[in-house]
Formats: sequence, C-alpha cells, structure tokens
Amino acid sequence: MSAKKKADLNIDEDDFIFLPLGGSDEIGMNLNLYHYGGKWLMVDLGISFGDDTMPGIDIILPDPEFIEQRRHDLVGLVVTHGHEDHIGAIPYLWPKLRCPIYATPFTATLVRRKLADEGILEQVELIEIDLSANFVIGPFEIELITLTHSIPEPNALVIRCGGGTVMHSGDWKFDPEPVIGEVSDIKALRALGDEGVLAMIGDSTNVLDPGRSGSEASLTDSLAVLFRKYDKHRIAITCFASNVGRLATISAAAKAAGRNVALVGRSLWKMYEAALQNGYLRDIPEFVSEKDAGFIPRDKLVLICTGSQGEPRAALARIADNAHQEIVLERGDVVIFSSREIPGNEAAIGRIQSKLVSRGIEVVTEREHHVHVSGHPAREELVEMYQYIRPKIAVPVHGTPRHLEAHARLARQCQVPEAVVPGNGSMIRLKEGAAEIVGWVPTGAFTMDGGRLRPLESSVFGDRKKMLFNGAVSVTVLLEGKGHLHGDPVVTFNGIADEGEIAALSETAKDLIWEAVEALGKKARGNDDEVGEAVRRAVRRVVKAEYGKRPVTTVHVLRV
Ligand SMILES: [Zn+2]
Ligand SMILES: [Zn+2]
Repeated sequence: MSAKKKADLNIDEDDFIFLPLGGSDEIGMNLNLYHYGGKWLMVDLGISFGDDTMPGIDIILPDPEFIEQRRHDLVGLVVTHGHEDHIGAIPYLWPKLRCPIYATPFTATLVRRKLADEGILEQVELIEIDLSANFVIGPFEIELITLTHSIPEPNALVIRCGGGTVMHSGDWKFDPEPVIGEVSDIKALRALGDEGVLAMIGDSTNVLDPGRSGSEASLTDSLAVLFRKYDKHRIAITCFASNVGRLATISAAAKAAGRNVALVGRSLWKMYEAALQNGYLRDIPEFVSEKDAGFIPRDKLVLICTGSQGEPRAALARIADNAHQEIVLERGDVVIFSSREIPGNEAAIGRIQSKLVSRGIEVVTEREHHVHVSGHPAREELVEMYQYIRPKIAVPVHGTPRHLEAHARLARQCQVPEAVVPGNGSMIRLKEGAAEIVGWVPTGAFTMDGGRLRPLESSVFGDRKKMLFNGAVSVTVLLEGKGHLHGDPVVTFNGIADEGEIAALSETAKDLIWEAVEALGKKARGNDDEVGEAVRRAVRRVVKAEYGKRPVTTVHVLRV
C-alpha cells in the first residue's frame, strides 16, 4: 500500500483523468475513478483480505476520503462484476458516498444481499442494467461488453465522454466454452477497436503467465477421469463459491462418473440461490443438502466444500479437523483443490492439506492433475485483446507493481504508443501524446474492526502485533497516603511464560516493583504517571532478562 502522498489537484474541468484509489499497488480492493467535465465516475469498490502477517484483520478496504470530499460531483458507481475485490467494500463505504449504483442482474443480487445484511438496502439507489446495455451517467456514456471470467456476468465498460473513449476491461479472459453464460463478445470488441479507443485500463493478474488461461469446459473430462480413479471412496472438492461455472463443471463430471453432488458450506448455498434466481444452473441436477449427503453411499457422491483458501471457519477446515457435524472423510478418501492459491494464503492452505494427509486422505491440486483454470488472461489473450482494441494509451491495473510494469512492457510490444503505470492515488491524464501522471492524491486503507472502520495504520494493530509476538503484562499497584506500596502488586502475564514458570516470574517482578517504587522520591511517588513508568520499566526489565521479550505492559496505579 502506498504511503500518503501530497494532494495536488492541478487539473482542468475538461481533463479526462483516471485515478485509482485501490487495486493499482496490489491485487484486491479495487476502487477506480474517472474524471471529466468536473464530474467523477467510480468503477468498482472492493476489498482485499488480511493474511498471516495481520493478526485479527479479516478484510481491508480502500480509503475513499478523496472522493468522499467530492461526493457531490460523484455521479455514480458502476460495478464490473460480483467478486469481493470489486463489490466487497460497498456496504461499508457507500454511506460515505451515497451515489447510485449500477450493476447487471447477477451482480445486483449479490450487492443487494450485502446491503440488506448491513441494514442499508432501503437507502441505496441500485439500478439493474442488462448485459450489453448502453446508459448515461452524468457526462459519461457507458456501454457494457460481455466477457468471460470465473463468475457470471463479467463486463468490460466502454466509457465515452468529451475527452475520448476508454475501455475498462474489468476482470476477464477469453474462454471459448465458459460452461455458463455467454462467450466474450468479440464482435463488440472489434467494433470498438474500429471506432477508435483512447485508452485501455486493463487486468494484469496473469501477465506473468505465458500462453492462454484455458477453457472451463476442458475441466469436465479431466475431473471425470479423476472421480473414476477414486471409485470406492468419498470425493470432496473445494473451489470459490462464486465460481458458478465450476459448480456446473463439477456437476457434469460427477454425472459422467455416476455420482450426485452435495454443497457443503453456507456461502455455496447462497451463491447457488443467487445463480438460480438469475437463470443460471437451472439445467443441472439439484444439489444435495449437507444433511442428506450422509444417506448417499460414499461412492455415489461428490461433496463441493467451501474453504479452498484455508479459511479456518469454512467447511473444509472443519472436515480436516474431523469436527464437521455432517461430513466425515476417512483414509483413502480424496480432497481436490479446484482453485489457485491466492498469494498470502499458502500457509493456511498448507496447514489444512497437512492435516488431511496425516489422516490418510489424499490431496490433489492443480500441480498433480488438470483441476483448475484461471479466470484471468494469460499473455496470449492480452495480446489478442490489444489486437482488437488498439488503444493509444495502456494503463495496467489489478496487479502489484511487478505485474503492472510487466503489463506495460507487453502493451508497448503490442504497438501501444503510450503505457502509463499507475499507483494508488496517481492522477493519470488520458490525452493522446500527453498521457502521464499529473498529480497524486492521498490514499490509505481501512479495516473493519469490531464493527467499525479503522485505519490500517492505526496504533491498535501495532499493539496487537506486538502482543502477538511479545506477550502482554498487566500490573496493578495500590499506594497508601504517602505513596508507599500498600501490599503486593498484582501482576498478570499473558503469552510470556508457561504456567509452571509464572509463580517464580511473578515473585521476581514483585520484588523489582517494590524496589522501583521505594527508590522514587517523595514527589515522584505522588505522581501516578511517574509511578506507572517506574513500574513498567521494572516489569519489562524482568521479562527481557528472563525471556528476551518486550511485552506490551499496562500499569494501573490506585491509591487508598
Ligand atoms: Zn478482481
Ligand atoms: Zn474477478
């Protein structure tokens, strides 16, 4: 995440500007802004997830302060598709923005549910738009172009205004057989290229991968072969709940292997419901419930489970611990990971895989068998897209700086005259022959902590991390009238010493606290802060000497 940069809003009303506040220094928490005619249009408002280095942090949101201050000029939010890194921040940040939201039907279903969970659905103007729709928001004319991805209804946006025409790709791939939904609208892409495109703002996730991402349909036979191999055993497979196409693929492969399919995990059922509501998955056999799964012979069932990223509360984690209420796996059974490891989650996934293997359950990943295709374009697909669109300017987004630089190089190889690498907070002027970063605005990140938004730089998280690595000590000292100790101090140690060691450590600490307080002069003994600091130093000295740790130390000074 980029540091705060100096605000420098030196732009004209009719400058066409692209400004990402999130998603251009990382893969995740996308928040993109376009400026023209003094108005701002927002594209996507997503989250990213905390990892092992961020104790207690589940989700991370981009700081919208820049646009919050200008919300009266914010004409709307258009959402490209329903992944969390594109819609996840809406329920928490919309109250700061209060603009209309535009989304296609499936995505709108997911957004509506989030708003309802947060209790703000009634306040939000959520406008459902058709696939391939044309509509106008303020000075911007928008056209949707259907692409393919790993969730239904991924859309590229064509944004036309007085400053020119931009193609904002959203997340995409070229999948000739996506299993559900339409194929990519190549005709519309070619027509757009012929019309002339000023700039393409595009997905960089897989720019480091050669070749093509592969087709969802190629998995059906491959999975069926794998299912048949385990013909006497129970088969569990885990993937992202939002990968509705994958649910259809698994269903087809299971049918070919003579098995029913059950869904295990709440988010899978929610996503199945949303899919049915919007006309997807209606032509495959109904999924079996977790409860009924137990009545089906082990060789007649495939279990689709939540938890492909090692999430500790998801179904797969509980199954691995043999702590799931309905589902039991045994020696010889198999768990298939039909997903990629999102960077940062490797350790969590590895822990679950180890537990399974140690119980004699086989683990199959994309390293052993063809069980997954990515939803993002590899290099050949990117080249193909540049051949259709032929933009004057390329702005790579949806990546770490390494991805963005590699994507910019690829765009130049594809004869794109100008490529500008953004960062979160960079204002990029979209103007032929003069595309460049013209200023930086402040950015940052929040997390949801105990139901409230808290800046990620907050000292709270620093303290929490310190406690995690160094433990914590809490001391209460009671002083009598002249500031001498009135009895032994009460000392509590957390995360520092084993139970058997605590008594001795406490005694040493108490002795040093007595010494420290008695060594203070009369005036200092009368001052709570000075007493507290002396006690704190004494305790930290003991723990440092005995355990080499610098614990977070809290001292309460009371007087009788
Ligand atoms: Zn994304
Ligand atoms: Zn996506």
